[in-house]
Amino acid sequence: MKVQFLGGVRTVTGSATLLERGPLQWLVDCGMFQGGKEIAKRNDHTGPYHPKTLSFILLTHAHIDHSGLIPKLVREGFRGKVVCTKATLDLCEVMLRDSGHIQETEAEWQNRKNRRSGGKGAAPLYTVEDAEKSLRFFSPVHYNEMVPLTDGLKVRFQDAGHILGSAIIELWVEEGDKEKKLVFTGDLGNSGQPIVRDPSWIKEADLLWLESTYGNRLHKSREETIQELLKIVQEAIARRAKVIIPAFAVERTQNIIYTLGQFIREGLIPSLPVYIDSPLAISATEIFKKNSDCFDRETEEILLRGENPLDLPEVIYTRTTEESKAINEDEGPGIIVSASGMCDAGRIKHHLKHHLWREGSHIVFMGYQVEGTIGRRIVDGAKSVRLFGEEIAVKAHIHTLGGFSAHADQKGLLEWLSHFENEPEEVFVNHGEEKVSLELSHLIRERFHLKVSVPQWREKRTLFVPEERRMVKEMTEEEPPPEATFHLLMRHLDRNYKRLRRKLKRWKRMGQELEGTQHLRQLEEVNRKIEDLESEL
Ligand SMILES: [Zn+2]
Ligand SMILES: [Zn+2]
Repeated sequence: MKVQFLGGVRTVTGSATLLERGPLQWLVDCGMFQGGKEIAKRNDHTGPYHPKTLSFILLTHAHIDHSGLIPKLVREGFRGKVVCTKATLDLCEVMLRDSGHIQETEAEWQNRKNRRSGGKGAAPLYTVEDAEKSLRFFSPVHYNEMVPLTDGLKVRFQDAGHILGSAIIELWVEEGDKEKKLVFTGDLGNSGQPIVRDPSWIKEADLLWLESTYGNRLHKSREETIQELLKIVQEAIARRAKVIIPAFAVERTQNIIYTLGQFIREGLIPSLPVYIDSPLAISATEIFKKNSDCFDRETEEILLRGENPLDLPEVIYTRTTEESKAINEDEGPGIIVSASGMCDAGRIKHHLKHHLWREGSHIVFMGYQVEGTIGRRIVDGAKSVRLFGEEIAVKAHIHTLGGFSAHADQKGLLEWLSHFENEPEEVFVNHGEEKVSLELSHLIRERFHLKVSVPQWREKRTLFVPEERRMVKEMTEEEPPPEATFHLLMRHLDRNYKRLRRKLKRWKRMGQELEGTQHLRQLEEVNRKIEDLESEL
């Protein structure tokens, strides 16, 4: 079996792992690279495979850094299945369409610029139409359901507790006379997050792919974070100012609605307008309401009391651009939740332009800010940032609230790892900035004595190399001694023979069932090949 690390390694975006067993090829995640022009170039790379020959894509969750290149693959000929949970499919419906729209808008903008400078036209990575077409290939499954994919390959999705529908993927692969279990965490949730359940524990794996976004950091507790947010909102109300929250449309926005609802219900703040200024977040909130079977116990209990924690009378949803612009005419205190979460696209840029320079305003970051984004520059203390070609001073209060993170922190990741009873032979640490992944891998090695690696982009590996072959290779730099080679070849021969026998048995069984004359013809062909081989020997 072979693996190639195609993304989400030594960086947090572009998650994709290519797996191969014989002629069968499939991907786990197919994410878009984000965070600046340089890294985004990787999106144009065609894979080391042809999309037509890929059999499936196993998708951990709907975030664009995991799902964002699926429409591109479909456009290039992928006709396999995209296997994911139902909530992931629902979210992908709005998120991929939105992503297609962003691609079209960016290409249009680039084209206008190119025309002025006499350059060439730019085509979007994919369009809204491509995104819509790609949805046809999605095949939703339930959590905890064992799903056969093809001969000797089955998969199970467990709750990852990261966003609605997010999953840890357990994959069983038969190769030769062995079955191996591969586990992919996707993005691992932060325990205690509202709405979604806590991440499931996995007890065994032969190989593990572990995310490391916050592998070198500890979040403040959710309780502390709630208190901080409360203080910020109260202060803004006292000064009749606005709180701007750049938020990811999925999960974070719903968590904010949930928490603000709590403040208002408990009388901690007066009723004030809460603008949800992101069409994507509005659609995502609708999808949350439809998938209440994914909710945790606390949220279920609120629902049972007849309340909906996502239906807040104070919330004003602004779908159109006109409605969005009107927000800035409202002089009073208020909260504006807008996308994108990293401030590099969308309506949030307009709100930042209106508020970054005002000393009374508060900007509250709640999610990870990728290197190269405007959000990251503000968080890192930039004195000014460039928005719509204008230099805007940063005078507002800038806050980072980690406790609302949808990712496990270092403690959470190590705690999750400690539940393994049969530990993996090797752990691949991915989905983190290089320094962070290396730091976490060091810690795992020390604490759990496991073999850990941090793969490079496009690195290829053969998995489950038989121990004896690895030993011979490691022992000698030059040619191994003839005895070792003989021993190795014999083992190999035995393994191949066993594999062949098993396959032949399967063929004979199928031939007996006489499902069609095709099997008989193939059996005849196999017989002929064995005779050829025998006469050659
Ligand atoms: Zn995610
Ligand atoms: Zn991610």
